[in-house]
Amino acid sequence: MIYIHIPFCKQACNYCDFHFATSKRYIEDLQKALLKEIRLRRDEIPDQISSIYFGGGTPSLLSDKQLSEILETIHSNFNVQPDAEITLEANPDDLNINYLKEIKNIGINRLSIGIQSFRERDLQFMNRAHSANEAANCTLLAADAGFKNMSVDLIYAIPGLSDEEWEQNIQIAAGLPINHLSCYALTVEEKTPLAKQIKTGVAAAPEEDRAVSQFKILQTCSSALGYTHYEISNLAKPGFEAQHNSSYWSGKEYLGIGPSAHSFSKNLRRVNIPNNQKYISSLRDGDCLHETEIIDKKTRFHELILTGFRTSQGVSLQEITQLSSEYLNYFKSRIENHPLRKFISIEDDHVKLSPEKWLLADGIASDFFY
Ligand code: SF4
Repeated sequence: MIYIHIPFCKQACNYCDFHFATSKRYIEDLQKALLKEIRLRRDEIPDQISSIYFGGGTPSLLSDKQLSEILETIHSNFNVQPDAEITLEANPDDLNINYLKEIKNIGINRLSIGIQSFRERDLQFMNRAHSANEAANCTLLAADAGFKNMSVDLIYAIPGLSDEEWEQNIQIAAGLPINHLSCYALTVEEKTPLAKQIKTGVAAAPEEDRAVSQFKILQTCSSALGYTHYEISNLAKPGFEAQHNSSYWSGKEYLGIGPSAHSFSKNLRRVNIPNNQKYISSLRDGDCLHETEIIDKKTRFHELILTGFRTSQGVSLQEITQLSSEYLNYFKSRIENHPLRKFISIEDDHVKLSPEKWLLADGIASDFFY
């Protein structure tokens, strides 16, 4: 699995703490640096590549030619499966029919569109660059261009978004040619414009009770509409679960290309420098600035529980056994004595947390830390 980070956006959404720049001044230099990093790291993942994911930032700010060069470089340096899932994160305002046809032509076969809401008021609150009209129309245009695999991002618990309006957002998405939903509660990250707006009283803070009620609406409504809730934030029509996401959760090795991108391989996690200019100049000098962290067995044990409790697949006992039988015995004994035992099941060698408790998954998982 290969992830490519495109660190540019038209404007800053008020809640976002990802790495991106709003000036496109270095976009060409950065694309060249990405090509160089791909070539430099060609031996790091020997397996067949089943998924390529352009994330960001806003990858749809790259032209079809720039994306095509990146894909060609990946194909000539890695063993990419013929049926690999190739996803482009895109914003609605970048998607016109010509661009959509071009990117389909170069091999992009899945879109993940940052719609966030079909309501103008919410989009303005979050400082999104697109309009409600563009949000609804872009998926129809993409379907016309031949895309059959489309995901959209939606945000709930936005201040002012009522439960009825949230349900309508889900219904609107389900009425469009979309087979995957990624739904997140609005959270306030440190140092974001939203955090500042709340502090100065310009914006209201998201309410926790609203997040809980809208998560429940998401579960009931999406299930009635034929979506399977396979991870706390991800829902799919049968057969459209994202390979990219599932590979992360199942602990597969992955290669992250670009500034701030993470990689995971042979108990090492690597993070590229989150600075566009330093990233570009380090690659000009023939290396890529990064930091590396060793993931020891205990950290891996904790990660397996944290990710497993957020998914319908659950925590694999086999993977824990491979780490250490001591962890396995500890985990099993803690399950039996846990106050929420009735919400935890053991099926097919997997420990599963009931979806109604997924919003508390991180806290519950930490009860099992060694
Ligand atoms: S478009 Fe995406 S990456 Fe860019 S600021 Fe908005 S949420 Fe963040």
